[in-house]
Amino acid sequence: MQVVTTVAEMRRLRAQMTGSVGLVPTMGYLHEGHLSLVRRARADNQHLVVTIFVNPTQFGPQEDYQRYPRDPERDLRLLEQEGTDTVFMPGVEEMYPQGFDAWVEVGESLTGRLEGASRPGHLRGVTTVVAKLFNVVQAQRAYFGQKDGQQLAVLRRMVADLNMGVEVVAVPTVREPDGLAMSSRNAYLSPEERRAASVLWRSLCRAREIFDGGERRAEVIRGEMRDVLASEPLARVEYVSVADGETLAELETVDRAALVSLAVRIGGTRLIDNVTVAG
Ligand code: AMP
Repeated sequence: MQVVTTVAEMRRLRAQMTGSVGLVPTMGYLHEGHLSLVRRARADNQHLVVTIFVNPTQFGPQEDYQRYPRDPERDLRLLEQEGTDTVFMPGVEEMYPQGFDAWVEVGESLTGRLEGASRPGHLRGVTTVVAKLFNVVQAQRAYFGQKDGQQLAVLRRMVADLNMGVEVVAVPTVREPDGLAMSSRNAYLSPEERRAASVLWRSLCRAREIFDGGERRAEVIRGEMRDVLASEPLARVEYVSVADGETLAELETVDRAALVSLAVRIGGTRLIDNVTVAG
């Protein structure tokens, strides 16, 4: 496994690769969710490139950039075990040198809601860094988690509209035994908060349960989700959404593929999760 930190070195290695290249972008502090992307990319491609970069431009000024968990040595051990060929882990100066001032942005209709509404600038940071990684790595396929459902929809829009010629592959969310979606941010939770955090999954299960029972009124589904969340005193709801799976517009009636998503604060930690329903 080769570990490189500069764009020039990454490009040099890329030029030597023949056959398909799979890219898995991450912010590190790897868990089984990341590793499921890595395994899928490993199975699909001749070459596997994983990036580790805690991207400052996708964090707001009041957010957790400084304290975001990091453990590069452990990450590299895990990636080596998974048969990764190349790890690209640039420093901030390498990705954002003095004078950096070009951005890739998807329009408001997709980015002005949900995460985009709660975290101004977040999705612009994501699209910009992912576009940069696509340009440097020139992969045939790139792997992203369904866990970040809006991010996936926004990246698909970017790739289609800017003719990026990379296949975006979505990978199902990996969960803890109680249903909590794996996330590097789960490390922030105290034991009591960790127990409370399972309420996100219970809320999503309730949505799916009444949908499967025939309920199609989106407002009723959102209401049931809120009721489940209200039963957990440590949970503060940021949003609950039942939206068109492609446009992310809130639905009145669930008559098409939908993204059921939520953002909830447990203590000081902001958690997101989603499920899709067929409509
Ligand atoms: P992050 O390091 O949090 O930026 O995540 C890197 C990639 O891993 C993104 O495409 C995420 O959607 C994906 N990911 C994060 N958590 C999970 C999970 N629990 N299951 C599947 N994919 C995940």
